[in-house]
Amino acid sequence: MCSRDPASNQLIDYKTNDSEVQKDCTTASGTPVGVKDAIMTVGPRGPALLQDFVYLDEVMHFDTERIPERVAYAKGAGAFGYFECTHDITRFCAGSLFEKVRKRTAIAMRFSVACGENGSADTIREQRGFAVKFYTDDGIWDIVGCNMPVYYVRDPSLFPSLIHAQKRNPQTHLRDADMFWDFMTLRPETLHALLMYFSDRGTPDGYRHMHGYGAHTYRMVNPNGETFYVKFHFKTDQGIKNMDARRCSELMAHDPDYAIRDLYNSIKKGNYPSWTMYIQVMLNEEAKKSRFNPFDVTKVWPQKEYPLLPVGKLVLDRNPTNYFTEVEQLAFSPAHMIPGIEPSPDKMLQGRLFAYGDTQRHRLGVNYMQIPVNCPYRVHVKNFQRDGSMTVTDNQDGAPNYFPNSFCGPKESSRALALQTCCPISGDVYRFMSGDTEDNFSQVTDFWTYTLDNCGRKRLIRNLSEHLCEASQFLQERAVKLFTMVHSDFGRLMTEALNTARISKF
Ligand code: NDP
Repeated sequence: MCSRDPASNQLIDYKTNDSEVQKDCTTASGTPVGVKDAIMTVGPRGPALLQDFVYLDEVMHFDTERIPERVAYAKGAGAFGYFECTHDITRFCAGSLFEKVRKRTAIAMRFSVACGENGSADTIREQRGFAVKFYTDDGIWDIVGCNMPVYYVRDPSLFPSLIHAQKRNPQTHLRDADMFWDFMTLRPETLHALLMYFSDRGTPDGYRHMHGYGAHTYRMVNPNGETFYVKFHFKTDQGIKNMDARRCSELMAHDPDYAIRDLYNSIKKGNYPSWTMYIQVMLNEEAKKSRFNPFDVTKVWPQKEYPLLPVGKLVLDRNPTNYFTEVEQLAFSPAHMIPGIEPSPDKMLQGRLFAYGDTQRHRLGVNYMQIPVNCPYRVHVKNFQRDGSMTVTDNQDGAPNYFPNSFCGPKESSRALALQTCCPISGDVYRFMSGDTEDNFSQVTDFWTYTLDNCGRKRLIRNLSEHLCEASQFLQERAVKLFTMVHSDFGRLMTEALNTARISKF
């Protein structure tokens, strides 16, 4: 037994640590149950009775215990801990969690696999989700990031198609290389993210050994009302560690829940994972003059021009006490911001501000913010929203439910008002297509040329060709054309690798 890991021993630990005497079991209405393993029948071999509430109570709940899984980022692991501010950034941001060095703010984090379903393997090649919830003195702040600094598309109208193309074929119910490569090659802005996806970092060793990135551009407001554009980075303190294809396949067969297990065991053993948080800052004037669109999520801000400034540490020191309650119901939305943090015109961010709350209302209901893990427990919510399915709070008792009112209802916050910025915007209303109007190649060329070394490029070629050779010939050709536009060596090496892959298939 001593060789078993903490996750395997969970039930043993429960029994050992439970000092209370074993309690009677009950129905959901709290009535003690005398017999739990026999339904009520007419005679030992007769039909069942509708009056058997003990059975009906159990089976009716069982029939409805699944909620819709997330359309994207369905399978994941979560844990809890704190953010500690280690560096003064009050010159950029008035956010309450940054007000003092050494101030701690409670956090929840959820890591996930982008397109696999709830039962899929943790080690498949995919983007990983990296979401952080800060329970601040000013309410919830959510960052819905991932393990890559860029995203595939820059216009949110393409998001549903991007996910559909990576999920299952509507007829065969299989993952489909033609769908994947058709979409990706018709939208060259996907190249930057695609290369990262097929690089070593597409198969991280669990969730502890990967960086996280806010990816989107946000705006910070300082106590004087001055604004700055920022990007968030979370660098793993455990060091980057990735897996090769053989190890991934072994784990798919033997331990498909590898990443969940690794995070749980690490925290249970007191080996608390942590990430160092950094920001990149761009001034408004720099944003206006930037040679690239700083609000385009398919681009990074070069670190030589916009260096990483340290901010603090995220530490995870508590596992969920119940997975469904605290992780499956953990709901993030980038629209949850606090005074001092605002959205930028990043189009993908603008689209996500709506979509995340919408999907959580579908999954969890209109009162999903009342679920303990989602509610901003550092503040007392006071607003004019009432009722709705599953209201489980005091529903704000007798306080006025309209605004304005003369009866001591909640008033507007002078602090939030002082930090609200006035942002002049004008322009023509139009559907501005961005597929080819932005530069889709320069940063991808930098990634190929400078970020990857020779061995990294070889592994990228191998990973790409193994996947791309499953697609139709015309899609392979279209992809190689794009790779050649990134770098002529890249196109040539991919042609050679695809020829080899084709020969080895026959
Ligand atoms: P830098 O040399 O300053 O930064 C390179 C970054 O790339 C580092 O953060 C490094 O992470 C990271 N990196 C290394 N290998 C990979 C990989 N296989 N997949 C993803 N990231 C990787 O360069 P620039 O800022 O000028 O950017 C150059 C290129 O590097 C960009 O075009 C982009 O493709 C990539 N990059 C840039 C990031 C940024 O925020 N500017 C972040 C990540 C990637 P580590 O800290 O582990 O060394």
